[in-house]
Amino acid sequence: MRKTHAVLKNVSPRFSLTMWWLLGLSGAFMAAWEFGVQNGIVGWIGGGPVLAAFVVFACCGYRLRSSVSRIKTESLEQHATTDILRSEIEQQSQAIDTFADGLDLAVLICDQRATVEYANQSARQIFRFAEPVGRSILAMTLSYDLEQLVLNAAKTDTTQAKEIAFPPPEGTVVLAKAWVGSKSDRIFLSMYDVTKVRRLERVRQDFVANVSHELRTPMSIIRAYAETLLDEETPDQLQLHRYLTGMIEEVDRLSGITRDLLVLSAAESDKVHRVPCDLAEIVTGVVDQLRPKAEAKQLAFTYEGPPQLDAFVNPTQLTQVALNLIDNAINYTQKGSVAVRLTTLPAGEIELRVKDTGIGIATEHQSRVVERFYRVDKSRSRSTGGTGLGLSIVKHIVDAHHGSLALESSINIGSEFTVHLPSPEEPPGPESS
Ligand code: ADP
Repeated sequence: MRKTHAVLKNVSPRFSLTMWWLLGLSGAFMAAWEFGVQNGIVGWIGGGPVLAAFVVFACCGYRLRSSVSRIKTESLEQHATTDILRSEIEQQSQAIDTFADGLDLAVLICDQRATVEYANQSARQIFRFAEPVGRSILAMTLSYDLEQLVLNAAKTDTTQAKEIAFPPPEGTVVLAKAWVGSKSDRIFLSMYDVTKVRRLERVRQDFVANVSHELRTPMSIIRAYAETLLDEETPDQLQLHRYLTGMIEEVDRLSGITRDLLVLSAAESDKVHRVPCDLAEIVTGVVDQLRPKAEAKQLAFTYEGPPQLDAFVNPTQLTQVALNLIDNAINYTQKGSVAVRLTTLPAGEIELRVKDTGIGIATEHQSRVVERFYRVDKSRSRSTGGTGLGLSIVKHIVDAHHGSLALESSINIGSEFTVHLPSPEEPPGPESS
């Protein structure tokens, strides 16, 4: 029976109609015939309505069945359409999620009370909040300003924009913009992270201020000497000599600063032009150049390293690195030794160590000595002719060579600066030419 039903279900409606008619008619006819045969003329007269009833029954049955099957077909079609639409909506929302998550811009959607309904990946990363949906903007960002921005946008139905700095430790700075959706009362919020830009601006401003200050000091001293000489009607020979010597020293300082600034600027902006060269020759050249200075201070001055060490570096810049480190070691050591060591590590890295038994650097200064113009002791640095740019130059050059600079130091025991450079076999970095 179920099989027949299944067969009937698959045949066309027209064929099905015919079948139902035939079945109904033949059933009715057989019943009427039987009735007529058994009851004679009375039976024949009575069989007529029975036949008609069967015909009507058959028609109704067919109509009912065809309506049910039509409704069923329509419902199945609607289900299929709903499934297609649902999968299309899912695909589109996945595409929007992927797009929004790939943006560097933080994007949030909130309701009128500043409760988060959606946050893209950048937003979750900036605020280190994995599940912000359902939480308030204030709870997510800890920024009252941002919450006010969203609430103002909701209240005034206008776009609101503001630069907002978030509290430490992150200290993120963003350009935030909040606006109300045109066809919904949701608030859309975008945040562009400008922390790096603001930090660079501050560094540049500090740098310009530092340079001006560094240049102004020797210039004021030169001016003071010159004015004193002008005021003196007949300066004696000794005085004249002292003032002029002082002026020459300050001019030397000025040219030292400008020279170091140029070297630093080249290290920061120029492409590193690396060539195969002998690093042992470079380092021993610097050691030989500075030996008289170390001997004048009666320091034990040693070099340990291979007679030849193949490297793939910029020779001028590596000469500068060795010169600044070894010169500092001699400058800041009153007695004891300065030891220079050049080696190749088992992994192929090149290592340059400059160790001294000098004044050392206190822990709180150690991370700052590579900053431009940073000096632990300004007067001591001045007395050695330092500009405060030497280690900054070293750091930039080493970074540009994809190397690293490390410092170990203890007050009154000494300091050791270690430079690591990648193996000469390693492919050059993207900025190398
Ligand atoms: P400077 O021209 O003043 O020597 P640097 O950038 O070379 O500038 O060094 C920054 C500061 O780091 C120096 O002023 C000094 O205080 C400290 N410094 C650098 N090298 C040494 C060292 N070998 N021993 C002790 N202090 C050092």
